[in-house]
Amino acid sequence: MQQMKIHVEAADRVFVLTGAGISAESGLPTFRASDGLWSGHRIEEVCTPEAWERNPALVWEFYSKRREDGAKAQPNPAHIALAELEAQVGDRFFLCTQNVDDLHERGGSQRLVHMHGELAKSRCEDDCGRPPVEDRAIYKSLAEVGHCACGARLRPHIVFFGEIPLEMGRIERAISDSTLMIVVGTSGSVYPAANFVHWARQGGARTVYIGPERPLNASAFTYVVEGKAGEVMPGLFTVDA
Ligand code: NAD
Repeated sequence: MQQMKIHVEAADRVFVLTGAGISAESGLPTFRASDGLWSGHRIEEVCTPEAWERNPALVWEFYSKRREDGAKAQPNPAHIALAELEAQVGDRFFLCTQNVDDLHERGGSQRLVHMHGELAKSRCEDDCGRPPVEDRAIYKSLAEVGHCACGARLRPHIVFFGEIPLEMGRIERAISDSTLMIVVGTSGSVYPAANFVHWARQGGARTVYIGPERPLNASAFTYVVEGKAGEVMPGLFTVDA
């Protein structure tokens, strides 16, 4: 059977949105696994401002484990395929990931934003204005967690549910400039990311979804490529010079 191709034209500006599914074949569980939990936890226990207020030790325990698992994982062929596409498309390429792992960077991507934060960074819990700091520590207890220069405790540089995603201005501009949107491995249930396809369609862009199941917002896509990202993405793109 001949594999479908996604054709990137010389004038295309490409916006890519990725979700937890692109890292599934690297061994990192998606958020909505069949049990509805994220690595055994309810989101309200570990990924909300209220959880941080109530039990910062549990939140740090959870993200320390995510750091440990993330460091062991390797980019898979889907991460590599996007880095190769970027190398051909250059400044007409923009990658927005909902993922907090660094597998896109390690796969070679350069023009990317992490709208939900990054596992490998921490920041001031009081939002004192200092930028996030590199932090890959695996904390065994709250007593080990460092402090910001202002004296407040460091929290994971993660956008908790209920908080505003990062870099939304840049993301919105890149979507309105785009002519081709490629969405990979996201269930279409976390907002505002689930709306990006609608914004792109309003601007007239072609929209493609790649993943093994149809997302909740599937009807907004021009094409759906059904399959695991690591299996279907290598060789999927043809690029005009
Ligand atoms: P989600 O868990 O809600 O949905 C995952 C999607 O990936 C599903 O639609 C599923 O069909 C698809 N999928 C599963 N295996 C796949 C594969 N091999 N190839 C392609 N697609 C595959 O994920 P979401 O929509 O990204 O929302 C999850 C939220 O949780 C995000 O905000 C993210 O920050 C966070 N999260 C991040 C990571 C990570 O950084 N690796 C992991 C889990 C959750």
